[in-house]
Amino acid sequence: MGQYFKAVNLDKKEYVCPWCIGGVAKLIEWAANPQGAIFTMLLRKSSASGGGDYYGPASRDIYLGSNEAENVDLVMQEIFKGVAMEGRPVSPRADSSVGRWAGDRVALIGDYDASKLWDELPSWKNISDEVVRDWNAFMDIPDLKLCLNPDCSCRKGG
Ligand SMILES: [Zn+2]
Repeated sequence: MGQYFKAVNLDKKEYVCPWCIGGVAKLIEWAANPQGAIFTMLLRKSSASGGGDYYGPASRDIYLGSNEAENVDLVMQEIFKGVAMEGRPVSPRADSSVGRWAGDRVALIGDYDASKLWDELPSWKNISDEVVRDWNAFMDIPDLKLCLNPDCSCRKGG
């Protein structure tokens, strides 16, 4: 069968269930699917934003138009807007999963692990809903979006 893994935060007693976020649970499956990329969001640490950042959607949407000469003014205007946004402070919503695990003791816990932490997870907080919500707001590549599975067995105490 193979060993299954869940992402856990030992300090906050929170976890992300791979099946809840529409993924699969073996280590190679965490590694080879978009679900493994959620750690970039969970572990982000910065009080400011920048282009390509989670809090830089406005800068990622900058319209550069075509390469036609008459658009030079527009292009320069958009570039200046982007530069002006660099380093601006961010104020995430209170329940945001962005940076939520930065600096904490975080692990991918296997169900074969001697700690038996896996068995305790039903009493911990499952933050999969927040992760899917925040990830999909950030990720604009359709194939890399996550799909919340409301029928996951972990949501039924199983
Ligand atoms: Zn689940």
